[in-house]
Amino acid sequence: MIDTALSYGEQLRRRADAIATTCIHGGEMPDADGALDPPIVLSSAFAFASAEHAARAFRGEEDAYIYGRWGNPTVDALEAKLAALEGAEAACATASGMAAIAGVLLASCQAGDHVVAPRSMYAESARLLRERLPKLGITTTFVEGTRDAYAAAVTERTRILYVETPSNPTLGVVDIRGIVEVARSLPGARPLVIVDGTFATPFAQTPLAIGADLVVHSMTKGIGGHGDVIGGAVAGSRVLVDAAREVIVKGFGGVLSPLSAWLVARGLRTFALRQERACATAATLAAHLAAHPRVAVVHHPSLPTHPGHALANEQMHAYGALLSFELRGGDGEREGDGATAAVDRGRKVLEALRVATHAVSLGDVRTLVVHPASTTHSTMPPEARRLAKITDGLLRVSCGLEAASDLVADLDQALRQ
Ligand SMILES: *Cc1c(COP(=O)(O)O)cnc(C)c1O
Repeated sequence: MIDTALSYGEQLRRRADAIATTCIHGGEMPDADGALDPPIVLSSAFAFASAEHAARAFRGEEDAYIYGRWGNPTVDALEAKLAALEGAEAACATASGMAAIAGVLLASCQAGDHVVAPRSMYAESARLLRERLPKLGITTTFVEGTRDAYAAAVTERTRILYVETPSNPTLGVVDIRGIVEVARSLPGARPLVIVDGTFATPFAQTPLAIGADLVVHSMTKGIGGHGDVIGGAVAGSRVLVDAAREVIVKGFGGVLSPLSAWLVARGLRTFALRQERACATAATLAAHLAAHPRVAVVHHPSLPTHPGHALANEQMHAYGALLSFELRGGDGEREGDGATAAVDRGRKVLEALRVATHAVSLGDVRTLVVHPASTTHSTMPPEARRLAKITDGLLRVSCGLEAASDLVADLDQALRQ
């Protein structure tokens, strides 16, 4: 879906145009007082018009706001906007990305069920599948993110084919369509294909359009976009989203606060513009770093040398705002205390940055850089890290909205240190 006959800048402009109006007007309802900006409804309970109204509302015969954990107008408006951007029938906002991920897994699996998931994924999601869900009898096989590896790992108890693409932190591109085909080729009740689309955001990727059953997001990241809110979401068919809502929000209480919902909706109104710029900057940095003598390898799907480049062209609208790169000598010195040397080199670069900020998270207006081996992925067993290709010298960059030229200059001076 990326037309390489166009310049990437033109491609990004077209994608931004395709969603800009939805970003502003999607899910917005006329306010009784005429307020253009929707009010933040903080009320935890809502008055019934009559005893009959209360009874009908409780029987589900009438749509009504009753209690904040079951529904709230500010949260509903955000859900409608997000659903429109994902091309989904429905969306459910959640307290965080992890609430969405844990919730969809628990909503779809019971003891004895099985999940197939990629080796390279968000560390807390990996930990959920590796350490926490097995205690409830739900097991996971971790595989390379290829269609064949998923097909080989499926059993008759597999309920979920879990996908994260592009993957964290090496930006591997997983074949969503291929994995949907694996699910559809199975006899009986087919497993759900669930895609964590946080890295791409709906700007760069809309997995439901190519057959995924559910998309999960951390709205903390590019969707909220300003680094000032924690939130998550699930999007897909109304039946699946309602089932997830029952478990995540109503049952486990992972409700998004109306204030957070308002912040995310506000962030979404400038989403197309922000992503257009951040994605352009990521491609600029990727090309620059790929030619840098201190850099061994750059991971970004925009690069023709990236193993996921062709697949990204087929299933993405843009290459995303994240990249990672390995410092030269990052991995070749693993013998002896070589790993320590690579970790040290990564730390030196981070400490020399002046424009980019050394911080976890991503999708902020600020450019954020982390060293996964010593921070975000330090809880991952070393062997799992190695299989996920998270080397000691790997640095991950989430492009913000600063001038690309300032970021290039900043990285250059830091790499000289
Ligand atoms: C941040 C993130 C999550 C978790 O989201 P929270 O909002 O922090 O709970 C899940 N998946 C990916 C890919 C992420 O980047």
